Amino acid sequence: MQKFPDRPTFVTHLECGKTGTRYAADQLHGLSETGSPLIVRYDLSGIAAAVSRDELENRPADLWRYREFLPVRRAENIVSLGEIMTPLIELAGFKTGEGRVIVKDEGRLPTGSFKARGLCMAVSMAKELGVTKLALPTNGNAGAAMAAYAGRAGMKSYVFCPDDTPEINVREIAAQGAKVWRVNGLINDCGKIVGAGKETLGWFDCSTLKEPYRIEGKKTMGLELADQFNWQLPDVILYPTGGGTGLIGMWKAFQELKEIGWIQGRLPRMVAVQATGCAPIVKAFDEGQQHAELWKDAHTVAAGIRVPAAIGDFLILNAVRESEGFATAVPDDAILKARDEASRREGMLMCPEGAATLAAYQQELESGRISANETCVLFNCATGLKYPLPAMDDRIDVHQPIDFTSL
Ligand SMILES: *Cc1c(COP(=O)(O)O)cnc(C)c1O
Repeated sequence: MQKFPDRPTFVTHLECGKTGTRYAADQLHGLSETGSPLIVRYDLSGIAAAVSRDELENRPADLWRYREFLPVRRAENIVSLGEIMTPLIELAGFKTGEGRVIVKDEGRLPTGSFKARGLCMAVSMAKELGVTKLALPTNGNAGAAMAAYAGRAGMKSYVFCPDDTPEINVREIAAQGAKVWRVNGLINDCGKIVGAGKETLGWFDCSTLKEPYRIEGKKTMGLELADQFNWQLPDVILYPTGGGTGLIGMWKAFQELKEIGWIQGRLPRMVAVQATGCAPIVKAFDEGQQHAELWKDAHTVAAGIRVPAAIGDFLILNAVRESEGFATAVPDDAILKARDEASRREGMLMCPEGAATLAAYQQELESGRISANETCVLFNCATGLKYPLPAMDDRIDVHQPIDFTSL
C-alpha cells in the first residue's frame, strides 16, 4: 500500500477566472464574487527550484507524482484509491499518414473514469479544509467518484442525477454509499437543487468548477501527457467536452510547465468535441462568442458530455482559441460506429464520450482541419464497460447436435 511522503507545497492564492481578483489560499471557497470559477495559483519558481523532471522519474507513476503542482498541503489528507498514470494506446489501424493516433485510456482509473482525478483532489481538499458533507449534480461518473472518495474519507455525500442517467451509474453511486436521487430534469436542474439545499443541509457544493480543486486534479492529465511524451507534446488533443474541466485543466498544466521551462515551443491544438445533440461550445466557438447559450433539448448517447450550459464556458473557449484549436460536434451514429470499429479492430472498447473523439478525428481528417501527419491524442474518459453495449442473442443448445459449419 502506498504511503505518501510529505513534500513542500506552493499554492500562493486563488483568483477569479474572470477578473483576476485574489482570494486567500487555505480557506473554503466556492465561486468568486462574480460567480466565476476560482483558479489556483502557485509559486512556480518555487516549484522549479524544489523538483526536477529527472526527480519525478523516480517517483511512483501516479497522479501524486506531481505533488508540488497540486494543492493538498499535508500528505495525511490525501484520499487515494490508486490513481495510476493511465496508458497511451496507439490505434495503428486508424493511422493514414505520418502522424500517430493515440488513446489516453482514462478508463483504468478508480471508479472507471477520469472523474476520479478531479474528485480525489476535491475530496482531499475538502478533508484538509474540514468539510464533512458533499453534494453534486451528475450525469453519472462524477457522482460515483465523489461517493467513493467521500466514503473513504468518512464524509457524507448527496448526489442528484437527471432521469436518463444510465442505470449502472446510479446503482454504482448508491453502492458507493452516497444518497442518490433521480431528478426529472437535466444536469443544470440537478445543480439548482444542490444550490438550493446548501443552507438547510450544510453540504459543500462539489459541482464542476464551482469548487476550485477539481481543475487541479484534471490538470494532472496535462502533466502526465507531457511526462509520457518526454516533455514534447503531441500536435492535437481531442477532448470530449462537457463542463470542460479537463480541457481547462490541461491547458493550465501546459501554461505552468511552459512558465518553468519544462516544455518549449508550440503547444498542442485543443479540440473540444461535443455531440450534435448538445453542442453549446461548438455553437459559441463558430459564432465567435465569449460565452455559450443554454442548449435546449440536449440529447446524446454520450451522457458525460450532455451538459447544456457550462459555467466555465469562457475558459473552455479561451483555451481552444489560445491554442489555435477548434470545437466540433459529431452525431450519435458516428459515435457508436467509431466505438464499434475501435473495439473490433483494435481491442479498445471506448466509452461513447471517448468514441466521440475518434469520430471527430475521422471527421476532421476529412474536413482538413486535422492532417494525417499530426500526432493526435484522443481521450477515452471512462471504461466502455460502464455503458450499454449492443445486444448479443446467439445461443447454443447443448441438447442438440451443433452444426459447426454454421458458426
Ligand atoms: C464528465 C465526463 C466528460 C466531460 O468531462 P469535462 O471535463 O467535465 O468536460 C466526458 N466523458 C466522460 C465519460 C465523463 O464522465
